[in-house]
Parts: sequence; structure tokens; C-alpha cells
Amino acid sequence: LSTTNESGAMSKNAERTYIMVKPDGVQRGLVGNIISRFEKRGYQLCGLKMRTASRELLEEHYGDLKSKPFFPGLVNFMMSGPVVSMVWQGKDVVKQGRSMLGETDPLKSKPGSIRGDFCIDMGKNVCHGSDSVDTANEEIKMWFKDDEVMDYKLTAYKDIYE
Ligand code: UDP
Ligand code: MG
Repeated sequence: LSTTNESGAMSKNAERTYIMVKPDGVQRGLVGNIISRFEKRGYQLCGLKMRTASRELLEEHYGDLKSKPFFPGLVNFMMSGPVVSMVWQGKDVVKQGRSMLGETDPLKSKPGSIRGDFCIDMGKNVCHGSDSVDTANEEIKMWFKDDEVMDYKLTAYKDIYE
């Protein structure tokens, strides 16, 4: 990934993550709020779409959890309705995104985080965020075609980064 900053140098601020509002988050009307948190923080929206995911895609997305007892229920729930898929870009966005989401268990999530503010049970924790830069790049490839991820210059860049 090669965006340039104001001085024309290669920017480290072009890290990308995959954030998804799960079917429960869509049903509960949380899409706007979740988008808004990332926008207000200063992150750049590079991709956005809604779809009901296939079993095949979800089994790939959650491939590392295949052996877990909650895996079949998780995949069935994730197929139960549309999800909103997003790509967000900016400095440290993978780690910051996870922190904005909160802990996997909403009961362990701090107020002020998405899960800490909006949910209670682990299987209804309203959102997903990539857990590493490598995972993020894999997930973006799984959920988006190349031409669905936008490369564009943020005009507010100079007001967000020093
Ligand atoms: N999950 C669950 N029960 C568990 C652990 C996880 O239902 O004991 C669900 C939960 O919705 C979680 C998803 O499986 O968000 C993926 O698990 P992971 O450990 O990757 O958590 P995340 O990265 O979403 O925080
Ligand atoms: Mg995970």
C-alpha cells in the first residue's frame, strides 16, 4: 500500500483494517453510530458494502475458530441477515479499531467502547474488527474486490496528522 503524505513521503498512516457490523448490529440500528465513531476519530473510509454472507465466506473468515464448540452457531448466526463490511485506513487503525470495539466479551468491555456501550452477550457482540495487520489484509481480500477499495486523498489529512 503506497499513499503519500503532505510532504510527498511514503506514509505509515495508510494501515488498513476490516470492520464489520454483524447481523445483530444491523438489526439494532447501530450501523450509523459505528461508522460515526471511526469517522470522528479521523480514520478514512475506503470501502463499504452490505450483503448477506455465504457459509463458505464465513467459514474462511472464521477459519481459525473451526474447532471451537461455538463455531457452527457463530457461522449460522452470521448468515442470518445482512452485515455491513468496511475498510478503514489510518495510523495504527488495526489496534485502535480493536480498542474502539472493546473486548470479545461485552461484559469485560469498558463503557465508551462499542461493545461496552451496546451489548451484553458474546454471541451478540454487534461488530468485528481484524486482530492484526496481516489478518486485516487477508480479511479485506476476502470481503472486497480490489476495485471496491478506494484509494483517495483525505483533504482533512493535515488537520488530523501533525
Ligand atoms: N464467540 C462466541 N463465544 C466465544 C468466543 C467467541 O460466541 O466463547 C464469538 C464472538 O461473537 C466473537 C466471535 O465468535 O466476536 C469471534 O471470536 P474471536 O475470538 O475472534 O473474537 P473477536 O476477534 O471477534 O473479538
Ligand atoms: Mg477475531
